Amino acid sequence: NADMAMYQAKEQGRNNFQFFSGEMNSRMVNRLTMENDLRHAMDRDEFFLEYQPQFSMETGRMFGVEALLRWLQPEKGLMPPSSFISLAEDTGLILQIGEWVLLRACFQNKEWETMSGEKIITSVNISAVQFKQKNFLSSVRNILKVTGCDPASIELELTESVLMTDVERTTETLKGLKEMGLKLSIDDFGTGYSSLNYLRHFPIDRLKIDRSFITNIMNDQDNAAITRAIIAMAESLRLKVTAEGVELEDELETLRSFNCHDIQGFLLARPSSPETIKQLINVNR
Ligand code: C2E
Ligand code: MG
Ligand code: MG
Ligand code: MG
Repeated sequence: NADMAMYQAKEQGRNNFQFFSGEMNSRMVNRLTMENDLRHAMDRDEFFLEYQPQFSMETGRMFGVEALLRWLQPEKGLMPPSSFISLAEDTGLILQIGEWVLLRACFQNKEWETMSGEKIITSVNISAVQFKQKNFLSSVRNILKVTGCDPASIELELTESVLMTDVERTTETLKGLKEMGLKLSIDDFGTGYSSLNYLRHFPIDRLKIDRSFITNIMNDQDNAAITRAIIAMAESLRLKVTAEGVELEDELETLRSFNCHDIQGFLLARPSSPETIKQLINVNR
């Protein structure tokens, strides 16, 4: 851990401290600074959510959205999740942040559904640290209760690595979530490793095929083969399947020819504000 390394280096005296390259030193300082900023971000109200629409291939209808965390630092601007999620996980701050994300997303979902009278699925990314936490189930239960959100409208996105460690406890947690009426999906599918045997037994509703397999799918034979295989497997296991990161018309048409159920990507819609989603729901009707 960065604090410890810095402390030890200082303890060992000036000579040793100089042993660190300037670059390494400044990277540590950056990390410590970001950790400190992250600790305050919640109190300072610097987080917000964007929502990226997800569409049915067959009808072209927006059936739901994915909630995506945004951190606007007054001095540094918008920080992408890839720059701070792993730090939030290492420091345990993800527990508080993740709980806030789910709470916000559930409130928002309830508002959209009440306003429009339409069903809309909101998916929420759940970190491994969050999922493995002892009181995860009771935290989710409490958020559903407080927000009055329909559990059937919330889909939790988990990753393969989360599911494949400590399979017995994972299965219990998944069952608990299903009993509450939530939907469950596997995010970034294909990038981790999944035992197909467990996949069969987990109460999962959907696979989200990672963007890396969708890119250039009309030309890349390997990507096409992997994506077809995932869609075929999903079909026979009676799982839904979403292609992530669709950017090009040709990618979309190739996915259509593979009978891919659902699609998400910049070609169709970027992550947007709740107000924009509200308008899209109205267009839907
Ligand atoms: P993800 O869950 O796989 O989310 C999809 C990411 O792909 C989002 O990036 C989205 O903006 C991006 N994306 C969607 N369509 C396209 C496309 O057509 N082209 C390209 N190039 N990108 C596309 P974002 O918002 O930067 O999030 C990155 C990752 O950070 C997410 O990947 C997720 O793993 C994590 N993340 C985001 N929000 C949360 C959160 O609330 N909690 C946790 N634990 N992780 C989150
Ligand atoms: Mg996701
Ligand atoms: Mg993810
Ligand atoms: Mg993904």
